[in-house]
Amino acid sequence: MRIPNTFGFDVKAALYAEYDSVEELEKMIAEGRITSPFLHMGCGSNLLFVKDYDGIVLHSRIGGMEVTAEDDEQVCVRVGAGVIWDDFVAYCVERGWYGAENLSLIPGETGASAVQNIGAYGVEVKDLILSVETVNIRGEKRIYQKDECEYAYRKSLFKKPEMKSVFVTYVNFILGKKECYTLDYGTIRQELAKHPAVNLATLRQVIIDIRNSKLPDPKVLGNAGSFFMNPIVPRALFERLLHQYPSMPHYEVDADRVKIPAGWMIDQCGWKGKALGPAAVHDKQALVLVNLGGATGKDVVALSDAVRASVKEKFGVEIWPEVNFIE
Ligand SMILES: Cc1cc2nc3c(=O)[nH]c(=O)nc-3n(C[C@H](O)[C@H](O)[C@H](O)COP(=O)(O)OP(=O)(O)OC[C@H]3O[C@@H](n4cnc5c(N)ncnc54)[C@H](O)[C@@H]3O)c2cc1C
Repeated sequence: MRIPNTFGFDVKAALYAEYDSVEELEKMIAEGRITSPFLHMGCGSNLLFVKDYDGIVLHSRIGGMEVTAEDDEQVCVRVGAGVIWDDFVAYCVERGWYGAENLSLIPGETGASAVQNIGAYGVEVKDLILSVETVNIRGEKRIYQKDECEYAYRKSLFKKPEMKSVFVTYVNFILGKKECYTLDYGTIRQELAKHPAVNLATLRQVIIDIRNSKLPDPKVLGNAGSFFMNPIVPRALFERLLHQYPSMPHYEVDADRVKIPAGWMIDQCGWKGKALGPAAVHDKQALVLVNLGGATGKDVVALSDAVRASVKEKFGVEIWPEVNFIE
């Protein structure tokens, strides 16, 4: 069975199994139908299959968005892991609930959002998460409160290898009912100024427009969004680099550490728009690796290795893939 993935690789799994409810997942487990090796995936928008997967690929189709509590200020919503993330954002925006709008149009499902701690335009999904409901491979249910999820930049407890057998079934979110926006990131304010009023709908539209102008559409050019994480470097190394490259963009993290955009470093190494066989660095956004057509996972890994080696040689900085490699 072909595995869906936004790189557009032609990869297959020995078995691709879907379930519609927690009960159905529990039944599959109880009947011993989930044997090793297995992989739980969402839409495959952050996965790089290096080859065919010789095991069971699991996928949740658990749907539903249900209000579980609300008052004049806030609302709590329980969302099925299989709900498309952007459908949930649209649902919140339509109802005048604040918090998710900057995360508009991020591909993938709600379950994966909590695994990945997705983020964009100054907001991370952890800012909205209350708890994450799970079932493990032994059929045991557990709800992880947000402070147990070890959230950090594109990281969570659920990304750890030992959590591979923990499946997210529902995510509980909290949204605000009082007007509150995050606007100080990138060109949001500039673009908003073109609209007569600032409201949730215009902000969502602005985010969608910015994203569409910058990121390639996976249906046209296979990709998995930002391929690399932005490295966070010790301040001493940052000072040395800034002396050498005075125009280097950067974001303060804390007193000891500074974040440098990986895309800028890749661009400085001359990779923007360059191809290595059928895989290439996108010509508008150096952080994105694309499948020009017919590429395999191995082609993209070769490109990734070459890009990482260049950045290490020029800047002395290691950059790490954000994309999950599946061997
Ligand atoms: C064009 C494009 C733009 C993007 N922009 C952004 C962006 O702005 N910000 C950002 O953060 N990301 C971005 N991404 C990456 C991607 O959208 C996110 O990582 C997203 O959360 C992946 O969702 P998915 O459903 O496709 O998960 P998958 O890629 O299928 O899986 C991701 C991980 O989650 C695990 N997983 C998925 N579902 C479950 C579950 N129910 N239980 C347990 N584990 C599970 C998988 O095992 C895997 O480790 C972009 C990707 C693309 C293609």
